[in-house]
Amino acid sequence: MRKNIVAGNWKMNTTVAEGVQLAKEVNEAVAAAGELKCDVVIGVPFTHLTAVKEAIDIEKVGLSAENCANKEKGAYTGEVSAAMVASTGANYVILGHSERREYYNETPEILKEKVDLALANGLKIIFCCGESLELREAGTYEEFIKAELKDSLFHLSAEEFANIVIAYEPIWAIGTGVTATSDQAEEVHAFIRSFLAEKYGETVANDTTILYGGSCKPSNAQELFAKPNIDGGLIGGASLKAADFMGIVTAF
Ligand code: PEP
Repeated sequence: MRKNIVAGNWKMNTTVAEGVQLAKEVNEAVAAAGELKCDVVIGVPFTHLTAVKEAIDIEKVGLSAENCANKEKGAYTGEVSAAMVASTGANYVILGHSERREYYNETPEILKEKVDLALANGLKIIFCCGESLELREAGTYEEFIKAELKDSLFHLSAEEFANIVIAYEPIWAIGTGVTATSDQAEEVHAFIRSFLAEKYGETVANDTTILYGGSCKPSNAQELFAKPNIDGGLIGGASLKAADFMGIVTAF
């Protein structure tokens, strides 16, 4: 059966010292919480991975990078490879976030290369998809999401797909304070699961964790997570305070 996951995405926030402090607070809160109904992952900047890995119990708190290069290694100044990420002890990488697609021109083809390198280096992938407000209003968002998934993931075998977590993040809800209603999110999650079933069959589709992201906070997490196809959240702003993040983790 699929796992519930609550994953933080710190984006470009915190110094190393602040990040280590935040990671310690999350780690302590997770340890103190006892049996949780979800896995907990924190997504941190590249510069923080090694120090944060030292500050947490990786068995209890998963560690994710927020990106990795689409090249294996070599003369790519400023890039960080999937092998480098894995060598820090991180076990996840977030790929395809709308901010990277929009501001860094990450195309489906580039993302496909990143997906392959991440898997080759043993990383699990939190793969983001989601439509803009224009597409939502035009009613064409399902076709758009289908293409995002198909173009970067559907070359994978069913076995490889077991390492993929999908995050549905409507762009209009990210960092805006506007959350998709639980019914809007559930509708898209159910649609994504049925699309996965068409390609990979019911078992793979039912085993795939699908997270919701977009202004998720302690006050709305419970309603969202109560939906049958919402298996947790990818959390931006509310992952920067341990108490808020834990308020979402314990919403399950
Ligand atoms: C995100 O960017 O992944 C995200 C969900 O951000 P926020 O929670 O701040 O909307």
